[in-house]
Amino acid sequence: MKSITKQKTFEEIEQQLDGFDRVYIAGCGTCATMSKTGGREEVLEMRERLQELGKLVTGWIVIPTACDEMTEVAIKENNGAIQNAKCILVMSCALGVHKLSTYIDKPVIPALDTLFIGIEDSPGCFQEVCAQCGQCVLGETAGICPLTACHKGLLNGPCGGTDNGKCEVDKEKDCGWTLIYQRLKEQGRLDLMRKYHSPRDCNVAPRPRTTRIT
Ligand code: SF4
Ligand code: SF4
Repeated sequence: MKSITKQKTFEEIEQQLDGFDRVYIAGCGTCATMSKTGGREEVLEMRERLQELGKLVTGWIVIPTACDEMTEVAIKENNGAIQNAKCILVMSCALGVHKLSTYIDKPVIPALDTLFIGIEDSPGCFQEVCAQCGQCVLGETAGICPLTACHKGLLNGPCGGTDNGKCEVDKEKDCGWTLIYQRLKEQGRLDLMRKYHSPRDCNVAPRPRTTRIT
């Protein structure tokens, strides 16, 4: 399971760094390295581009796992270079950005967009199979999540635009609700296609969501 990210355009990063002439860069050695969006190579490339822009890069680091507790230690060890910067450019998923922002009393700027939490289907190929909605319906949709498999995230599908099993929004992709239909049919549970799913109840999983495992 990995947090999948993509790098923001350099123009957007440049815009967000406007007014900050000294920058510290932090990457992540886990998901962002795997995604080739915030590993050592990408951090060094970013350093070069920022220097070309006339920024002073006070230092850089690739934190082993930016979203975990050891991040605090890494920050302390690099405190001098971090304090010398006006802001921190973080090349990790939003979890890492959040984690760093809790330890650093300076503006923290994300260089990446966090897309989804994905599982690896085949080497290097990740798929979003759950959007962590907090009210799982997989038991009634043959194990296929309608929120992620359907382009429109319909809880009660299909939408009517299905074309030969393909999605009307993206003809390269299978219609999620056709997949659900086919699998329910194989299981002899087609009656579930008629079941109405109520809109999600926001009171069940109010945000921010927290939990304690004891
Ligand atoms: S319904 Fe989909 S998004 Fe919600 S918990 Fe189940 S798999 Fe995840
Ligand atoms: S065609 Fe299928 S996957 Fe596409 S939006 Fe409609 S129901 Fe969802």
